[in-house]
Amino acid sequence: MKHSPLIGRDYKARLPATPTSNRRKHHYLFMLAGGVLSLAVTLLIITNDAEAIRSTATTPPTESSNTDTTPQALPATHISKPLALPQQHRAAKVTATPALPADNWTEVTVKNGDNLSLIFSRAGLSPQQLHQVLSLGKEAKVLTRLFPGDKLRLNITDDKQLAALSYDIDQTETLHITRRADDAGRYSATTEKHHIETRTAHSSGTIESSLFLAAKKAGLSDNLTMEMAGIFGWDIDFALDIRQGDRFTVIYEELFLEGKKLRNGKILAAEFNNRGKSYRAVRYTDSQGNSDYYSPDGKSMRKAFLRTPVEFSRISSRFNLKRKHPVLNKIRAHKGVDYAAPRGTPIRATGDGKIVHLGRKGGYGKTIIIQHGSRYSTRYAHMNNYARGMKNGKRVKQGQIIGYVGSTGLATGPHLHYEFRLNGAVRNPLTVKLPDAGPLPKKYRADFNQKSRPFLAQLNALTRNTIALNN
Ligand SMILES: [Zn+2]
Repeated sequence: MKHSPLIGRDYKARLPATPTSNRRKHHYLFMLAGGVLSLAVTLLIITNDAEAIRSTATTPPTESSNTDTTPQALPATHISKPLALPQQHRAAKVTATPALPADNWTEVTVKNGDNLSLIFSRAGLSPQQLHQVLSLGKEAKVLTRLFPGDKLRLNITDDKQLAALSYDIDQTETLHITRRADDAGRYSATTEKHHIETRTAHSSGTIESSLFLAAKKAGLSDNLTMEMAGIFGWDIDFALDIRQGDRFTVIYEELFLEGKKLRNGKILAAEFNNRGKSYRAVRYTDSQGNSDYYSPDGKSMRKAFLRTPVEFSRISSRFNLKRKHPVLNKIRAHKGVDYAAPRGTPIRATGDGKIVHLGRKGGYGKTIIIQHGSRYSTRYAHMNNYARGMKNGKRVKQGQIIGYVGSTGLATGPHLHYEFRLNGAVRNPLTVKLPDAGPLPKKYRADFNQKSRPFLAQLNALTRNTIALNN
């Protein structure tokens, strides 16, 4: 992939900060970034064929986007299942704020450069009370990381004693600090977890000119559109393969707090029909809490390898077994691909594997070699430095940062030299046929089949609808 660094940075800044399990986060963001870039390109290639841009509403938003509070196709177990955000489904703690004189509450908005000490002193509260609140331990620790715009509610008695404080940590949690009636001057802290209701919604669309426009028309948010592109991005090149008439259907979560929509959750299942070929994916979380997308027959939607180990870079030298070396100035095979990128740009493991070499290696400079199973290995050279915790024998995940771009060894400027080997022989990383990621382990298959069935049935029903609407 060749990307403009400008587009890359722009879009990267807009990546959603949805909570993802830490193990998956890097990989997920990387995938997402790939999708975003493809989409950015897609946006730029809006066809100038007037026919294609005509705004015939074949799938009006009212019919194509639709929130089911009680979907018929999905049993109740699938709605309350903690697929994406298990921590928010824990039992809510009891609100600790007792009845206090309503007049004594004041709301304080955190200003730039503010902290709890300044807020307390403006409110006329003593440093002793600040100390007591801050020494409450783990739960009160969020008060040391206030952000401008955050709101605190203080209940202050007439003799300038803090009776209670409450602080919305985010949309799902509120911290309550109260003075204990039985033990004058002491405080206790509790975090109230608001009950988040998860509903299932779905949306379908047909592409007229660009995926983004079709998704918008179908009522799909940009984030969900990018997520969908990330899921199918291993099979479909969203920059080049998208055609007029391509269709998609997405079943996703919507998170509600007290009847008000907070945000979209995860995509639960989706179908993308590209040039007449249908691809389907269902999200599955195994008993260890690992989530991923699988085709209906239990194959991972991912490939075993990412094509590119550096985001937002440009290829400065291709795989060429008869290249003239820029430093040595004589014919010497170029056994990999060079990605020029600013010094310090993160380098990611392109596949799950084990580090079998970490250290200087002649002209390669600081180098990491990862062994992936018995047949594949990848090599990352000229690194500026290794990521923290990397060492020989360490297992790494696909998408995990292993080091940073530099120019150690024989290099004219900062770049990553990347090699891909099959049974020890170098292959062109840009054209080698990448193996599929492993299928869902056998022990999860029955559970996966059972859980994916209702989603697949719903996809069947929804895609029938979309086709009927188009005809
Ligand atoms: Zn090179």
